[in-house]
Amino acid sequence: MSVVTRFAPAPTGRLHVGNMRTAIHNWLWARRNGGRFVLRIDDTDRERSSEEHVEAIRADLAWLGLDPDEEHRQSARFGRYEAALERLKEAGRVYPAYETAQELELKRKVRLGRGLPPVYDRAALALTDADRDRLEAEGRRPHWRFRLDHGAPIEWDDLIRGRQHFDPGLLSDPVVRREDGSWLYMLPSTVDDVDLGVTHVLRGEDHVANTALQLQMFEALGARAPAFAHEALLVGSEGKLSKRLGSLGVEAMKGAGIEPLALMAKLARIGTSLPVEPVKDSAPLVAGFDFATFGRAPARFDLDELAGLNARIVHQLPFDQVADRLPEGMSAADWAAIRPNLKRVDEAADWWAILHGRIEAPAAPEDRGFLAAAAAAAAGLDWTAEPWPQLVARLKADTGRTGKALFQPLRRALTGRDSGPEMAALLPLIGRDQAVARLSSLS
Ligand code: GLU
Repeated sequence: MSVVTRFAPAPTGRLHVGNMRTAIHNWLWARRNGGRFVLRIDDTDRERSSEEHVEAIRADLAWLGLDPDEEHRQSARFGRYEAALERLKEAGRVYPAYETAQELELKRKVRLGRGLPPVYDRAALALTDADRDRLEAEGRRPHWRFRLDHGAPIEWDDLIRGRQHFDPGLLSDPVVRREDGSWLYMLPSTVDDVDLGVTHVLRGEDHVANTALQLQMFEALGARAPAFAHEALLVGSEGKLSKRLGSLGVEAMKGAGIEPLALMAKLARIGTSLPVEPVKDSAPLVAGFDFATFGRAPARFDLDELAGLNARIVHQLPFDQVADRLPEGMSAADWAAIRPNLKRVDEAADWWAILHGRIEAPAAPEDRGFLAAAAAAAAGLDWTAEPWPQLVARLKADTGRTGKALFQPLRRALTGRDSGPEMAALLPLIGRDQAVARLSSLS
């Protein structure tokens, strides 16, 4: 059996870290099995969906490195949903109902008041042809409900949550089509999963109850249901999927200098028993993906932790993967020297400016003599060997300075800053002439 997974966003907004995580997991499972990863655009709601969001979803997936093998759109498949509805009508598994939203709300309140579960009472099933004619003559149009089979409990082995049981008698017959002919999510998704040969539905646990309903739809359509895996939801460090997390998407990641690989490494593993690691590419994430490692507790997403992981990933990014984002003229050796000090790739430009630009480095009056000695020493070093330890040893011997009094004025004079990359790595990059010039200008 070839594995087929799907990621099914509605193009009504940008992707956020919560749904990017679901996309990543679906992609990993497909890639792990040499299967197919399908992008399904859930655009049945024509008013809220937009082409701009469809394009943004594609771009966000591409940024993450997730390459769909196929793309489908629900708006191009309405004929399939019609056909499925006809089939279910013939089998007596859907029925027309005419209650308005207000009438349904009233029924719900009455049931709750009587201590009954607020499920739809199926009054529409008792309507006669004459009743329906009368309602339609009044101008009412039907919406369509799927008739659940109350005969046996609904059960499945969820790949993450284990054995699941639902009593269909405690669920309302779901509305599958509205009065105006538009489709609700439930039936189209089932029809698509059948038509596209989806083998694994991996989605958030907010869909668990939908799965119970959809399992009966697969059966009613004479199809074999896919396997289901419902992952615990993503929450912020404060414990819930906050507004902030819900709007945290690729733009915010780019703004924070987060590498796509860092986001993928984080989202792939949080909420699982596997360690979040600074991987070099997605291969270990693919190889390690395993439903058995997923926990049931909400997965906590923390932006500061992500920034930490990002820095560790930046420290090992090879030159050819970043070259087009580095300042003109920066070499592989420059990158190797600077890289260990960066939290994000674009900080390389700051270091480049230190190495090759004009720096501001005011010197304290008491350091002037020391810097003059340093300039003289620097001019006489063997720059083909490691210049920094030589410079330090010479100045220690000549001036008696040690520790901060020795290092701080040198660093400041040579880089214009009080902290930064290892001077041993920086000094050869700054070079003899520039080092001597910077030290002398302050002495
Ligand atoms: N469009 C649905 C959603 O984003 C898809 C759910 C599913 O994966 O079936 O919630």
